[in-house]
Amino acid sequence: MSDVLVIGASAAGLATAESLRRRGFSGSVRLVGAEPHPPYDRPPLSKQVLTGDWDAERTVLRPPAHLAALDIELLLGRRAVSADTARREVTLDDGTLLPYGDLVIATGLKPRRLAPFIEPPGVHTVRTLEDTGRLRAELADARRLAVIGGGVLGCEIAAAGCRLGLDVTVIDPAPVPMAGQVGQEIGRMLAELHRDHGILVMSATEAEGPVLSDGRIAGVLTSKGPVEADVVVAAVGSTPATDWLEGSGLTLDDGVVCDARCRAARHVYAVGDVARWWHEGQGRHIRLENRSNATEQALAVADNILGADRPYLPVPYFWTDQHGIRMQVLGHPAEADRIRVIERAPDSRKFVAVAEAGERTVGIVGWNSARGLRKARQLLVDGSQVH
Ligand SMILES: Cc1cc2nc3c(=O)[nH]c(=O)nc-3n(C[C@H](O)[C@H](O)[C@H](O)COP(=O)(O)OP(=O)(O)OC[C@H]3O[C@@H](n4cnc5c(N)ncnc54)[C@H](O)[C@@H]3O)c2cc1C
Repeated sequence: MSDVLVIGASAAGLATAESLRRRGFSGSVRLVGAEPHPPYDRPPLSKQVLTGDWDAERTVLRPPAHLAALDIELLLGRRAVSADTARREVTLDDGTLLPYGDLVIATGLKPRRLAPFIEPPGVHTVRTLEDTGRLRAELADARRLAVIGGGVLGCEIAAAGCRLGLDVTVIDPAPVPMAGQVGQEIGRMLAELHRDHGILVMSATEAEGPVLSDGRIAGVLTSKGPVEADVVVAAVGSTPATDWLEGSGLTLDDGVVCDARCRAARHVYAVGDVARWWHEGQGRHIRLENRSNATEQALAVADNILGADRPYLPVPYFWTDQHGIRMQVLGHPAEADRIRVIERAPDSRKFVAVAEAGERTVGIVGWNSARGLRKARQLLVDGSQVH
C-alpha cells in the first residue's frame, strides 16, 4: 500500500485520513497543517466561541486519544510551499521534502481582504481560532460594530455582536442579506429578522473606505454616508488557498479543478472548500464552502484512493444560526425564479420553502424546521437535476 500525504489538517483533511483508516488502509498517512492546533471545527467561531458560550477547547474535532489511535503522522505548524506532481513530492516551509503515493489537497480558504481596510487596527477577518480570539477581545471594550458583507459569515457575526449587546450595522452592496445563498425572498425575511433584533441592515450600500481616528478604525465611509464603529469586520468572502500549488502543473481556477472523482491529476485529489470538481448530476464544476461537504467529500476521496472509481454527487447543504433561528439550505435556492412555502407553523417562526426554476426544484430552505426539511429533501432529489 502506498503512502498518502494530506496537506491541510482541518475538517476535510482529518476526515480523509479517518476514512482511509476506517476502510482498512494500512499504508502510512501524514497530515500536515499550517496552524499550530490539532484539527478544530470552524462553524462555532462565528457563533458560540464569538459570543463566549463556548470555550475555544470545545471546537477540537477529536480528542488526542482518538488521533493517536488513527496511527497518522500529524505535522502541525508546518506549511506546504510547493508540490512536484511529476516527482510526487511536496516541500514544506522548513525545506523538508515529503514523498507521496497519493496526495490529498485540503488547504481550504483564506479570507478575502478589502484593500482600504487592510492596515488600520480594529479591522478583523474571521477564519481561525486566533481571529475569533482577537475579535472577541476587542468587542469586549466596544460599543459599535460594523460588519462589511451580508453573506452567511457577516450575518452570523452581526447576530453574535447583537447578542453581546453591541450596536451593529451590516453594510452590503446586495439588495438583501445572503442573496447569493438563499435568493431575494428569503434574504428579505432575514433582513427583517436582523432589523427586529435592532441591527441596522444597510443593503445596496458600498463600503468605500475606513474612517480613522488616531490611526485606528473609527467607522466606515459608505456610499450612503459614514457609519461610526469601534470595531469593523470584513466578511467579504474567501479565496481558495492554492498559492503553494502555483507551478505544480495542476489546474487552478477558483480552487483545485478536479474530475468527477475529485482527482486533480494522477495520484492527486482535492477535498473540502478548496476543491472544484465536476458534479456529474449538475453537469458543471462546483465548489462548496460548507461543513458537511468537507466530511462527505472526504469519504468519496478515500474511496477513490482505494480504487472505488466513485463520482461524488452530493446534494449541497449548509446551515446557519442567527438570532436563535437555524436556517438549513439544500441545493441552490438562489437560482430559483420563485419560492413556494410548503409547510408553515402558525406563528411562522418555522417553515419549509421550495425554490423552483421553471419545472425544476433547485433548492429547499428550512427555517427552524429540521424535520420538515428532511421530508422535503426527496423533492430535490427526484424533481431536479441536483442529485
Ligand atoms: C467562521 C466560520 C463559520 C462557519 N460556519 C459554518 C456553518 O454554520 N455551516 C456550514 O455548513 N459551514 C460553515 N463554515 C464552513 C466550514 O467551516 C468549512 O466548509 C470547513 O471548515 C471546510 O473545511 P476544510 O478542511 O476544507 O478547510 P479549512 O477548514 O479551511 O482548513 C484548511 C486547513 O488547511 C491549512 N492550510 C492552508 N494552506 C496550507 C498549506 N500550504 N500547508 C499546510 N496547511 C495549509 C489551513 O491552515 C487550515 O487549517 C464556517 C466557516 C467559518 C470560517
